[in-house]
Amino acid sequence: MAKVLIVAEQRDGKLKKSTFELVGASAAAGNETHVALLGEGVDGLAKEIGQYGANKVHVAQNAALKLYNAEAYTAVLTDLAKSLSPDVILASHTPTGRDFMPRLARRLDVGLASDCVTLAFEGNSIKVRRPVYSGKATAEVEFVGAGPRLATIRANALGVPKPDAGKSAESVTATANLGDLKTKTTDVVKGASARPDVTEAAIVVSGGRALKSSDNFKIIEELADTLGAAVGASRAAVDAGYRPHRDQVGQTGKVVSPALYIACGISGAIQHLAGMRTSKTIVAINTDPEAPIYQIADYGIVSDLFTVVPLLTEEFKKIKEH
Ligand SMILES: Cc1cc2nc3c(=O)[nH]c(=O)nc-3n(C[C@H](O)[C@H](O)[C@H](O)COP(=O)(O)OP(=O)(O)OC[C@H]3O[C@@H](n4cnc5c(N)ncnc54)[C@H](O)[C@@H]3O)c2cc1C
Repeated sequence: MAKVLIVAEQRDGKLKKSTFELVGASAAAGNETHVALLGEGVDGLAKEIGQYGANKVHVAQNAALKLYNAEAYTAVLTDLAKSLSPDVILASHTPTGRDFMPRLARRLDVGLASDCVTLAFEGNSIKVRRPVYSGKATAEVEFVGAGPRLATIRANALGVPKPDAGKSAESVTATANLGDLKTKTTDVVKGASARPDVTEAAIVVSGGRALKSSDNFKIIEELADTLGAAVGASRAAVDAGYRPHRDQVGQTGKVVSPALYIACGISGAIQHLAGMRTSKTIVAINTDPEAPIYQIADYGIVSDLFTVVPLLTEEFKKIKEH
């Protein structure tokens, strides 16, 4: 059994699903599961975390933690890690987790395994697997030396367990000693989209260069909205200005691992595959039967996306209506 500290991720007072994945996996392995919850006015969220099996939620509140700030997070988490002495510290491999976990590792002078897609608890340590060489190979990582062992885990890699309203966690106040901060986050400007975040969505519908214009992406958006999915894009589509960079999936974009990934007019270049190859089911729509995307697709539709995508939307709408 390990003493595990999980860094919860919340935005605007709403917890990310990926936090529940980590809490559920740790609790299911019988670990002493602690959660660090940082923010302002977030203490009410401790109850929800308890339903996924956490033993204790350490709530650090401060106006400087209201909006994410790497310096402030690192300061609070370093103090908490030193006082709690966990064997393992976990965070989601989101842009936020990718930002503060290396800093925390440096402060604690320990190692970090990032972007892990499997997680196994062994005694008071962990063994993880992480894709390397753009996902062409997978490395198994074990930790040596003294802990804590730090890892970031890809969203959707572990699955969200069912909450149990009968479970609860003890909520304690953690010191929010921020020290002498050199930076301050004053505002976060959100994108206009009301769709789910591409890294967290259970379904992602992505479009590539073949869409030919941002206007044509409407058919991708309609399919995504029918399925409650996020919209993704290849770099070629982003570089051409059809989609904003936040939608880019791949080596230099976001890494996604949804239950279903629908690639429309995307060739399947290695750099794109690096961001989506761990998706559970991959559907490709491409006119070229030799396109590399078909090498990893579970289902392929060799046809024109401008015909197939609206047809799929229509059929899914019918299914939803019934
Ligand atoms: C350092 C580096 C980092 C990179 N990072 C990324 C990254 O993060 N993400 C990323 O995506 N790429 C990345 N790339 C770029 C990558 O190499 C490819 O150039 C890019 O993924 C190609 O995008 P695409 O598949 O949309 O376009 P294309 O390769 O042009 O493919 C378009 C596909 O659409 C098909 N098609 C055409 N018309 C239709 C139609 N009407 N219906 C159906 N199918 C049709 C074609 O057969 C073709 O397969 C990176 C490259 C480098 C060098």
